[in-house]
Amino acid sequence: EEVPTVNEGKAQILVTNEKVFYNPVQEFNRDLSIAVLTIFAKDYNEEVPQKNKLEKDDKISISHNVENQRGITILEALSATGLRSIRYAKEVEGVRQIIANDISAKAVDSIRQNVLHNGVENLVTPYHEDATLLMYQRRRNRFDAVDLDPYGCPSMYLDGAVQCVSDGGILLVTATDVAILAGNVPETCYYKYGAISIKSKSCHEIALRILLQCIASYAGRYGRYIVPLLSISVDFYIRVFVKVFTSHDKCKENSNKIGMLYQCNGCESMNFQPLVVRKAAKNYKLPSAPIIDQLCKHCQHRQHMGGPIWLGPLHDHGFVSRLLCNLNNMELGTSKRMEGVLTVIHEELDIPLYYNLDRLMSIVRCHVPPMLMFRSALLNAGYKVSYSHASKISIKTDAPNDVIWDIVRAW
Ligand code: SAM
Repeated sequence: EEVPTVNEGKAQILVTNEKVFYNPVQEFNRDLSIAVLTIFAKDYNEEVPQKNKLEKDDKISISHNVENQRGITILEALSATGLRSIRYAKEVEGVRQIIANDISAKAVDSIRQNVLHNGVENLVTPYHEDATLLMYQRRRNRFDAVDLDPYGCPSMYLDGAVQCVSDGGILLVTATDVAILAGNVPETCYYKYGAISIKSKSCHEIALRILLQCIASYAGRYGRYIVPLLSISVDFYIRVFVKVFTSHDKCKENSNKIGMLYQCNGCESMNFQPLVVRKAAKNYKLPSAPIIDQLCKHCQHRQHMGGPIWLGPLHDHGFVSRLLCNLNNMELGTSKRMEGVLTVIHEELDIPLYYNLDRLMSIVRCHVPPMLMFRSALLNAGYKVSYSHASKISIKTDAPNDVIWDIVRAW
């Protein structure tokens, strides 16, 4: 009897067990991860030939398969059908070994079958373990890339993941519980991610910044810090790609990239308060605790406090432009969409959050001017402006709130 199959990228998955999770909507997520890992592996294999060589020599003594001794190692901690790992094996150049792990025995059966069916048994090793345990066991024998793609919230895997990724290695993390991160349930967000989410027009970017803050905070416990390469909000999930390094000094430096967010209850103006100010200006006093009774200076309403969130860059623009350039060399089902999203991301200003033009105008009860005119007004006033990939009507700008309100009122 013929087994039904699903094709995605260069992989073909057998659908023998309906209980094992395959989500076609996540094709974009997998395509994007392949694009990112391709550039990452290229850099990594060039940057650390010495390190790779060492590990290579170690491996040769325990393995007969000398062919695949070059390249990066990947852990897919929650693999389900093995589809993602199989695609990494077939579509990412410069991969040495992939562990496709799942806690469910049925899933691991399906990974085993799919690995054989796709002829990638030399690269992909099916593994049956609780992801957390496996990651703790590999704290000293680390992976160059660790991929977390759980149902819902990834936070319970982060402590293990930040420890088992190599220096200069990459963490790829999905969160699908966007409603929680986007302000629907602030207390749940707090206990899961250690940050209060806030209802806001820029909730999708806040979600990204809460997840990054959460990863940074786990990494910091082990003297490690993160450098985001790409942070993306699409469909009903978010996905971040961060490099992880070790340095206590940099951890300290990075702490000024974490801060609280204030959003006025009246005019929705947003302000940020870094938790740590390294070079405090003269006369600047860091409040002993965040003040929420402080009134918004634009409209005298009280302010909501959210966070802490990541205030540093969401993307490495050099990396994003290389991703874009390389898209033509790849055969990905969703490459058109990817090109669109990455082009917007490439232009995104490194400024936290954004306003929404419709909302700004409705606060002052005025008609919405054409987006282009509003943007020109900001540019003419000498400020920068861009979109956020997370919202089509977003205004990301370095203009202070005063200037934004002056322009809104003048309309
Ligand atoms: N990454 C897959 C893909 O791209 O097709 C989808 C993964 S699916 C969303 C989540 C998987 O995590 C399920 O197969 C589930 O069995 C597995 N899982 C849940 N808890 C786990 C744990 N503690 N350790 C390992 N796997 C776990």
